[in-house]
Amino acid sequence: MYFKRVTKYEGQRMEAYLRLGIFIGVYLLAALLEAYFPKRPPTQSRRTRWRINFSLVGIDILVQRLTVGAAAYLTAVYAQTHGWGLLHVLDLPFWLTALIAFLALDFAIYLQHVMSHALPVFWRLHSVHHADLDIDASSGLRFHPLEILISLLYKSLIVAALGVDPWVVIAFEVILNGSAVFTHANIRYPDKLDSWLRLLLCTPNMHRVHHSTSRDEMDTNFGFFLSIWDRLCGTHHRAPPRAGHEKVALGLPYAREQSKLGLIALLMMPFRVTRQTASLGLSPDVVSNEVKN
Ligand SMILES: [Zn+2]
Ligand SMILES: [Zn+2]
Repeated sequence: MYFKRVTKYEGQRMEAYLRLGIFIGVYLLAALLEAYFPKRPPTQSRRTRWRINFSLVGIDILVQRLTVGAAAYLTAVYAQTHGWGLLHVLDLPFWLTALIAFLALDFAIYLQHVMSHALPVFWRLHSVHHADLDIDASSGLRFHPLEILISLLYKSLIVAALGVDPWVVIAFEVILNGSAVFTHANIRYPDKLDSWLRLLLCTPNMHRVHHSTSRDEMDTNFGFFLSIWDRLCGTHHRAPPRAGHEKVALGLPYAREQSKLGLIALLMMPFRVTRQTASLGLSPDVVSNEVKN
């Protein structure tokens, strides 16, 4: 163990500052690149989208503060104190347990994303993220508060089962946040760079395919940070969207009007039973319809 053990409160504070500091840095960089090298012209009012996306972020932060925001971190501290979890039983060097834990958490998040598309009850929550009609760095933070809470509890279970070190939990959360901003960024960059980056990491061009309105494209590229899980599990979509990155319609095929996608509508979206959501959000007849922006 090369790092000093952090106390519960030191770590909690450090986690909050680190996440916020790195998040602001990554967000400003992404916003700057989006301003100078945009990939797609906006199809919707950016002001309206940003107002909605940042309102959702505010609600998410508030809900986490009032409930189990630090659950994964606190579980790690508890597991460390009580010697819980598989990694505490194995006598491995710190760097190796940290690597195993990091890979396991990233794979778990990949699997959660796959399940969010496969299971109707989770799709109801996750469809709020997909309802954005354009994507940019702000879309990477736009999730229904219930999806955030479920994700936190799910991560805490993995942390408890493995006995993940609190430092690894902090590092993972910081990287996951930064990566979510980066993969949603609307930035133009050379294809060659994309091919190199996506050997290991999820890239904006990769994740844009995932936001296509076409089901066959949407059900690919589920990774958030490492791209290896998509490649290993056969969900990697290497080619650009059929309509091209600049023209592809983004969002949900059955919710195309920005005026009907306000903050309240998004918060209520998981609880609305429509013909589409009842049959997993994307019934084949809806998908086969031509979607136009
Ligand atoms: Zn998704
Ligand atoms: Zn996304």
